Amino acid sequence: MGYAQFRHGWRLAALCLVLLLVWTLQPIGVRAPRGGGAFDTQRAVARLTTILGDQRPHPAGSPANEAVLQRLAQQVRALGFTPEIDERFHCNTWRAGAAVCASPRNLRFWVTAPGDDAILISAHYDSVPAGPGAADDGMGVAVALEVAHLLKANPPTRPVLVAITDAEEAGLVGASAFAAEDPLAKRVGAVVNLEARGTTGQANMFQTSTPNGRDVAALAAGGHVPAANSLASDLYSILPNDTDLTVLLPLGVDAANFAVIGGGKRYHTPLDNLANLDRATVQHMGDSALAAVKGFATQPRHGAERQKLFIDLNGWLFLVLAKPVALGLMLLGFGASVLVFVRTRSGRSVRTAFAPLLALVAGGLLAVGATMLVALIRPEADYATAAPWALRLLQAAAGLAGAALVLRLLKVPTGVQLAASAWVWLGALVLGLFAFVPGLSMLAVWPLLFVVAAAVARSVPRLNPAVPWLMGLAGLVFALLALPAAGGFEEGLFVEHAAPIVLLLVFLLLFLAVFREAPAGTAPLASALLLVVGGIAALVVPAFSATEPRHLPIVYRQIDGKPSFSIPDNGPLPAAMRKVARFADVAAESGDPADWGKSWQAPAPAFVEDGGLSVTSDTSGPTGLTIRLRAVSPLADRQEFFFQKGEGIRAITVQGTAPKPGAPLRYVGCTGQACRTFEVTLALDPRAERPELVWRRTRYGVGPAGQALVAARPVTAQPVHVGDRQVILQTVVLKPPVAAAPAGAR
Ligand SMILES: [Zn+2]
Repeated sequence: MGYAQFRHGWRLAALCLVLLLVWTLQPIGVRAPRGGGAFDTQRAVARLTTILGDQRPHPAGSPANEAVLQRLAQQVRALGFTPEIDERFHCNTWRAGAAVCASPRNLRFWVTAPGDDAILISAHYDSVPAGPGAADDGMGVAVALEVAHLLKANPPTRPVLVAITDAEEAGLVGASAFAAEDPLAKRVGAVVNLEARGTTGQANMFQTSTPNGRDVAALAAGGHVPAANSLASDLYSILPNDTDLTVLLPLGVDAANFAVIGGGKRYHTPLDNLANLDRATVQHMGDSALAAVKGFATQPRHGAERQKLFIDLNGWLFLVLAKPVALGLMLLGFGASVLVFVRTRSGRSVRTAFAPLLALVAGGLLAVGATMLVALIRPEADYATAAPWALRLLQAAAGLAGAALVLRLLKVPTGVQLAASAWVWLGALVLGLFAFVPGLSMLAVWPLLFVVAAAVARSVPRLNPAVPWLMGLAGLVFALLALPAAGGFEEGLFVEHAAPIVLLLVFLLLFLAVFREAPAGTAPLASALLLVVGGIAALVVPAFSATEPRHLPIVYRQIDGKPSFSIPDNGPLPAAMRKVARFADVAAESGDPADWGKSWQAPAPAFVEDGGLSVTSDTSGPTGLTIRLRAVSPLADRQEFFFQKGEGIRAITVQGTAPKPGAPLRYVGCTGQACRTFEVTLALDPRAERPELVWRRTRYGVGPAGQALVAARPVTAQPVHVGDRQVILQTVVLKPPVAAAPAGAR
């Protein structure tokens, strides 16, 4: 090994050390309570422990949820506040063609004296049926109470209201009821919403109102750097995810939405419990929420505001730019990159100009290809759940190997010119996408300031030796911004779908290789070795563990009289479960309109039917047809109607209430035990065909018939979302009332 190789290896090791430092310096941890108005995690978790009691799942409309509400109200009173419970039947129609209904009981209280333009702290207390919801959204509730407690001692100048909503998991029904019908909603000027799609990691601020000038100013003024970047906000707005804030934003409020996304495989399972609730995460959400409320107190709502772009520098600094300024700086940085490239001669300038593009394509394709290959070989859909590091290593090695191979084949030396070329390509990418994903510029514009400095140094002969150092600094600043963002995206997408993130790593490799002015010799070999190690590891590590589980809810379902056990197909069923029931060898569509994808199905004993559906009236007049339906199901936790051939439906009322008009309704659902008698009235066009109806009723828990399957489920698998359940589906033909007979059920 020659001296050059040694120096190369030394710099590679130094680079790895810097990257490792960036990861470990993630600024989250539990602080000892400092007093003096600081967020106290211990106190917050103690309150939550009391509220959750025996940690039973407490979905909306269940007795367990009522018990949680009573304990919550008692805790609020113990803090010296006056909780008021607002109960109303309400349907949320935020998704086209669907009305999701419930009778939410929202708990609200004023932290300060009541007033207008108030800051609302919102979180929800209901859980999914599958788990106790210690993080989702018990953590939000705990943080809201502790922040309220701290603000009481130290009241801000702007009024503060807390709303702990109900039935979020049933379709944002509580928050929708608050926004549409609660008189308090009119007094809200800004919202700090607290959510969880996981149990660990930072509390990311991932959504604001638009334009966001005041929101960003509030976050900057609060005295705690939020974990936030515009790119994540851009991506969230593209994805079909929702929180309570979705239905609160139309109030025209300012907003900051915080959510935790680490440990996402425990989300909505029984493992979202107090033991798995990361105390450092509670502290981070607490510090962030307290600062956001204090920040909004300095930003009363008035006048116009502009759209801002923002990013946090590893929790140390909150960097903010107005959108046009970001664009201007991007153009400047792009120009500087071109200048450094042109003024740095290597004798292979044409190849060096295109090498980064080819390296990105090769690295990206190799990473995606390696991931697809592992997915093809491994039987489980979520094979990297328990040991994501193995696939992460494989993807990174594939990305770097692809890039190193391209440089080797092109005989392009690493160094300042290659780094400048890579900055030109990143600049072109960011500028090309600026209209659609302006947040991407926040990863590039700050390091490009050092490239601008390098361009100046290149033009002054005396400063020439500083050029590689300035370019290296640009790469380091990029690492500080891009690596945490990449980590966030991997948590958000899950590593199985995160292969394209290696493009950031390839850029980083090209940015940081500023010293060695010779074709990279050892890099392809080293990355090929890593590729082999990562590939073997990704293939052999266990897919699931007791704390990082597979999602395996058991559904005991009867469709038009035909009962079955049904389990979503996300991999082969465990042998122990196959022994208990005779599952088919091939997964198939279940026939349930609410199902998504194929499932494993086995014969099951017939249901003991209860209740029934009747047409209580069917009258036609000159203006149209009115059909009243009454579904009674004494054991159901949710009842739903799916209408097919429903073109003639003009209006639907549920429990005597007309959902807010939106798209024509083809689905109505009602969650909670109050919906055990489910009354729906259809108004149809005079000559319309009667629609076909699928009546679906769900009861949480799989019941005695499914207990053997539950017992056979391995500890590495858990129910998720609605969880284990009994579902009865019945197709009902609404016949014209020839004789006065009720409509027959097929
Ligand atoms: Zn939630």
